[in-house]
Order: sequence, then structure tokens, then C-alpha cells
Amino acid sequence: MSLDEVYRQVIMDHYQNPRHRGRLEEPTLSAGLHNPTCGDELRLDLKVDEEGVVRDAVFEGQGCSISMAAASMFTDAVRGKSLGEANRIAESFKDLLMRRSSDRSALGELEALEGVAKFPARVKCATLVMNAFEKAVQSLSEGGGSGHVQA
Ligand code: ZN
Repeated sequence: MSLDEVYRQVIMDHYQNPRHRGRLEEPTLSAGLHNPTCGDELRLDLKVDEEGVVRDAVFEGQGCSISMAAASMFTDAVRGKSLGEANRIAESFKDLLMRRSSDRSALGELEALEGVAKFPARVKCATLVMNAFEKAVQSLSEGGGSGHVQA
């Protein structure tokens, strides 16, 4: 089996069995985003403790296999990480898809989406959950969050 096939299976597995689907009752951070070019819709809820560590991350939405698989992988990857580490994962992933040098060490299964770099129109699908994450963190620095969490 080629690496491409392995990656495709990982993506389909996350799409068909999303790991962290749902909503939190009292999210510390939350953001919704829409990707009009593909029709993907996504809401990301995060529970962040006072140390700035992501204790829970869930998503809800509908869209193509790439956007949903990326959301499943990203919510999985950021659990237990600080907001700073989660942000680095998002940046490394974007670097990977923009074919810039990327720190792959923290990407985990997200690396399976590397092939999306070949389809520029789909990059927005793959990065939708990261953009929602950045939007949520931004709302914190703008005073929309609890104010106790360091990003
Ligand atoms: Zn899409």
C-alpha cells in the first residue's frame, strides 16, 4: 500500500468516525466559520483551564471529507496542549499545505492531509478548523473570553 493510500484511509476514517463531535455547554472559547467556496460549516468549542491548557475541544458542522477530517484530527491533536502549542500546530499545518518548511513533529495524523497542497482550492477546507481556532483565540485577546487565560 502506498503512502497516499494510507493517508486516504486515515482521512476517510476521521470523516466517517469523527473523534470529537458535539458542543460544550460552557466553552471557554468558541468560534464558527463558513467556507463559501466549498460550503463547509464549522463551529469549534474549546474548554481552556486557567493555565491556558486545552482540556476539551469539540466541533460541529457539515462539509466535505477534508474539512471534517481536519476538524477531527485537529481537535484530537490540541487536547492537553497549551494554546501556544495548539497555535504552533495550526501554523505548522498551514506551512505544510503552503509548501513552506514545516515543523512536522507535532502534526500527528494531520500530516495525512499533506496531499491537499496539490489542490489549492481545497486548502481552505483543510485549514477551516485552524482558522476557527485562531478566530476563537482572537476573541479572547479582544476581551471576549474569561480574561484569565494566557494565549
Ligand atoms: Zn470543503
